Amino acid sequence: MASSGSPRFSHRRAVLFYLLAIVAPTLALLFLGLQSVRRQRQAVTSLTASNLRLSGERLAAKLERRVSQLAEACLRDNEIVRIHGSLGAPIAPDEARRLRLLLEAVERRHPIAEQLFVIQGDLVRYPVLQAPDARPLEEDLALERSVSGRRFETLFGEAERLELLEGRPREAFAGYRKCSELAVADRLKATALARVARCARKLGEREAAEAAYERLAKRYGDLSDGFYRPYALVAGLELCDLKKSRGEDERERLAALQADLAAGRWELGADQADYFLAQLRERAPQLPDPNRETGYLRRLELARALQERFRAPPSLRDGEIYSSAFTHKAQPHQVHYTRVPPEALVGLDVNLAWVKARVLPQAFADAGLSGDHIVRVVQRGSGEAGALQAGIPFQTFFPFWELSLTSAPAGPAGSSPSRDVVVFAGSTVLVLCVLALGVLLLLRDVSRETQLNRLRSDFVSGVSHELKTPLTLIRLFTETLLDEEQFRPEERKGFYQIILRESERLTHLIERALDFARVDRREKQYHLGEGDLAPLITQTVQVYGDYLKRRGFSVETSLAPSLPVVAFDPDAVAQAVVNLLDNAAKYSGESKFVGVRLWAEDSAVVFEVADRGIGIPAEEHEKIFQHFYRSDTRSGKGGYGLGLYLVKHIMDAHGGRVEVQSNVGLGSRFRLIFPRTPPDADAPSDETSG
Ligand code: ADP
Repeated sequence: MASSGSPRFSHRRAVLFYLLAIVAPTLALLFLGLQSVRRQRQAVTSLTASNLRLSGERLAAKLERRVSQLAEACLRDNEIVRIHGSLGAPIAPDEARRLRLLLEAVERRHPIAEQLFVIQGDLVRYPVLQAPDARPLEEDLALERSVSGRRFETLFGEAERLELLEGRPREAFAGYRKCSELAVADRLKATALARVARCARKLGEREAAEAAYERLAKRYGDLSDGFYRPYALVAGLELCDLKKSRGEDERERLAALQADLAAGRWELGADQADYFLAQLRERAPQLPDPNRETGYLRRLELARALQERFRAPPSLRDGEIYSSAFTHKAQPHQVHYTRVPPEALVGLDVNLAWVKARVLPQAFADAGLSGDHIVRVVQRGSGEAGALQAGIPFQTFFPFWELSLTSAPAGPAGSSPSRDVVVFAGSTVLVLCVLALGVLLLLRDVSRETQLNRLRSDFVSGVSHELKTPLTLIRLFTETLLDEEQFRPEERKGFYQIILRESERLTHLIERALDFARVDRREKQYHLGEGDLAPLITQTVQVYGDYLKRRGFSVETSLAPSLPVVAFDPDAVAQAVVNLLDNAAKYSGESKFVGVRLWAEDSAVVFEVADRGIGIPAEEHEKIFQHFYRSDTRSGKGGYGLGLYLVKHIMDAHGGRVEVQSNVGLGSRFRLIFPRTPPDADAPSDETSG
């Protein structure tokens, strides 16, 4: 027993070496393979990145060229040339409106221009930044050459004198009112009406004042006073103040005015617009913030941005187009401008949204980029660059932008590196798994083999030991017979019988050992012949039964006298029967009962041996048929765990089977089942093994 440890240990060591010899190179191969896949992927990645960059640069250049062409076309528009570049100081609303209409027509033709602008010297003239200086009444009067005009002049002058110098508002009120009713230009009438309202307020005549302001707002709302303040706004604010003191809600009026202002109803300067927006909100804080995104307010904001940008007037050459970019209040601007003789600068603020939406796709198509590229314009520095993405800055325009070019993940070809990794690692893992399984099975086999060897050697020493007992007896009695001669004939006969019995036992033992050896080496031959099993079994049961009865067993038999024909080897069947009877007796415990039956069924002949002994636990029902298997608890009973193994082997050779039913403590029932249809006579039975 003790020696069995070392071969097992050396087996393990061999397996370990074997494992190491295979696993280590496999892992090394895996490592190298992954390494090369990674290098391949890196190469692909860097190639993709540089391709992307090249494509992006080409696209950016196309986009810039296209924008510059469009801007140039816009600035060379005939209408632009018609802008006379020698305008006076800040322009008045009428003039601003004329200019606006002209420029808007150009803008409609050239969507690249979100807004056209005119700068003169260091002053932004359009969009209007500041209102011009106050316009004296004389200017308006000078235009009015009619009789009514002269009458207006006289009456107005008188009323003004009464109001301002003599402090007599009531008389002035009457004078102004008359003026407002004369057939003169609207602008003069509106001026008089404004004075009427002012005097009414001074007189505390609220209703008259309100009526005058109401009329002023309604009829002359689009006109403006000497300070270029629209009457609608001026009168609206006054009305609001007057009515508010009476608790009337003027929110609607204020909201309407704010909306009109934001929509560009009046040509206000940027400063004026801000002033009035503030006034409106002061009176109605709950008004929503006017949407600074409206074209009109954006334009005014642009005027401010331009003023800041062109504080130092650039010197421009005729016919040349210049460009410049800047950010004002977080709004990026790209402007292109040219000189309009004699001294103005006309430019356009690029419509960035339009460039993104319309010019970019066109440039994309022109650059011949394939559909698996995704291009976006992003804020400079916000695009992340990677293998599949490149952020490309523009060369001349749009310094606040960059092109973000993404290569859409390609199809199966693109994904091949990672697929390679999976295939590579997967197959290696598979190989290792198979290897591990093999080793596991090997180890199991090795340990089984080791155990079997131990059992075999136990068997050999056990058999040798059992050989010794009959041999000793035979020698002892033979020596006694030789040495002593005075024995009586009966005594002599008794000795001879012992010698005979012991030699029979010896023969039996040796036969059994040889039988097993043959089965174990698969050399055992069975000689099947067809016939009736009943006589053979009856005789065997009788002989063995007599023996058992002599040993105090009760043997109950129920054997059919004749049976259907089956194929069988008489010696082998007799041995199987004896083995079962032997076990029944051996494990019958206190009961000392053995029951034997033999009968025929539809398709089989069945032989059964039953006992009421110690029984077999369910988990051992299969194991007991393995060679050398012996239940630990019963090992004291003598035997080598070969009886049932041989029974199974015999039954297999007969094309039949052996069955066991058993309960611990209640007994066991073994059945040999012989098929009635004879097995194929050609098939030698030594194929079968346990
Ligand atoms: P053994 O020479 O040990 O009897 P067998 O192959 O005949 O070898 O039996 C294998 C084992 O099956 C026995 O060791 C015993 O534990 C169990 N066994 C066989 N027959 C019986 C039975 N009739 N009752 C209880 N246990 C049995």
